[in-house]
Amino acid sequence: MTIATALMRRFALRGDIRGKVDEQEVLIFRKSFISRLKNSFDSSHLIDYVSRLVHACSALRQIFVVAAAVIIIAQVRAREPAGSTTQVAMPTISFKYTTLENGLHVYSVEDHASPTVAVQVWYHVGSKDDPNGRSGFAHLFEHMMFRGNEHLKPDTFDELTENVGGENNAYTASDVTVYHEVVPSNYLEPILWAEAERMSSLALNDANFSSERDVVKEEYRQRILADPYGEFSLAIEQKSFAAHPYKRPGIGNIAELDASQLPEVRAFHSTFYRPDNATLIVVGDFKPSDLEAWTKKYFGPVTKPAEKIPRVAVTEPSRKEDALSVSYSPKAPLPAFAVTYLAPSIRGDDAPALKLADTILSEGESSRLYQSLVYQQQIATRVSFDADLREDLGLLTFRIVLASGKSVADAEKALDAQLDNVLKNGVSADELKKAKNQFLTGKLRELQTDNGKANALGEAAVLYGDPERVNTDLAKIQAVTADQIKTVLNKYITGKKRVLIEYLPEAMKSAATPEQKRK
Ligand SMILES: [Zn+2]
Repeated sequence: MTIATALMRRFALRGDIRGKVDEQEVLIFRKSFISRLKNSFDSSHLIDYVSRLVHACSALRQIFVVAAAVIIIAQVRAREPAGSTTQVAMPTISFKYTTLENGLHVYSVEDHASPTVAVQVWYHVGSKDDPNGRSGFAHLFEHMMFRGNEHLKPDTFDELTENVGGENNAYTASDVTVYHEVVPSNYLEPILWAEAERMSSLALNDANFSSERDVVKEEYRQRILADPYGEFSLAIEQKSFAAHPYKRPGIGNIAELDASQLPEVRAFHSTFYRPDNATLIVVGDFKPSDLEAWTKKYFGPVTKPAEKIPRVAVTEPSRKEDALSVSYSPKAPLPAFAVTYLAPSIRGDDAPALKLADTILSEGESSRLYQSLVYQQQIATRVSFDADLREDLGLLTFRIVLASGKSVADAEKALDAQLDNVLKNGVSADELKKAKNQFLTGKLRELQTDNGKANALGEAAVLYGDPERVNTDLAKIQAVTADQIKTVLNKYITGKKRVLIEYLPEAMKSAATPEQKRK
């Protein structure tokens, strides 16, 4: 890191300049500059960063920053091949794959960079598989999986992970439920044993069922009821999907949780928590022969039920007309609204371009929507665009919280103007380049850890249905063109029906007639 060293020396030598600015600030600036440098893909990325930095600096520091930057950029340029189009070689994850006789999928990546190992078990069951009238079942079940069985105490997972400096947790998404641990490598065998134990049987009794149900209800109160916009988030999904179970609240709801019975929970375990519906992923410091022996020893005896695994067969119908849903809440401090369009499955070919559109439009304060609606027009306090792609289909969601004193109708017009602009004129080469850098930097950072690699592999294998995508997706992101972004946005938005969900402060309800309210 000769460039970084030179920069640091420059800072250290020029004590007179340093004396004029805050010591801490210099330190932060130096760190951030060096890390930007390490993570930059090319000099133009760096120039963009420096120009924003200079903008934010005092006159004295501007001279200094520019001088330091000129030297560094020249050196970075010298490293780049002439006419470089900034293609970065993406690391490949070389994984091994095997299936046990009972159908358990096993992916492994040997990596001895640190004496730790990441273990994940992905069950192909998520909140879309909640039984009818039982929203939150998959989520409740995730909690039950920590209650142990006749061999596993409720705190066994913590003992095997946190007590030895590791970690464990789980999450439930629409399509999957994932259990993950990172442990010192000599704890791999007991963790595999414990995961196999809870796959094979659970202590499901009234006492632990009702206590976990209370925990989930409390989570609902905290995450949905206590958040001023919690119910707005639920309404977006509920109103955007007409038929698909993605419309139901994955976190659960109090009435349906209260109505659930222990036998239903037992049935959920035997239906979905089975080896042929699970994918074990092990990444890190292990001996392949050990892993093979332990996997067979502990997961091998788990029986595979004869019944077929039920899958959601509902197809979301295409929208026939625009729809509007208005709700009022005493909790909403400022009006908010969302505009949604149906989007394709994450398994489809349009996913890379939609993900980059998401980054360009709303990632960070230099993104398009933030710059226009929050910074320049000051019509919104928050704005986002989310290409939320899932296994069966997705949603494109624009979401806005208004600035104080602004009208919902004006904000909707302002958003439409932004939307028209991007549909008609597309995105610029610079925006695209920056989005790729942002996106790829995040992905590359994720792939630096065992757990990150396991995540990426699990997503590819279970969610995308193609493990090879762990190695091909980043190249696809790099290959996306500005034209493709314009094309996919038009494909899913132009001429398509939208759902508009307004979530307004209670006071607006009595203030006007329905027609006037939205003015
Ligand atoms: Zn939970």
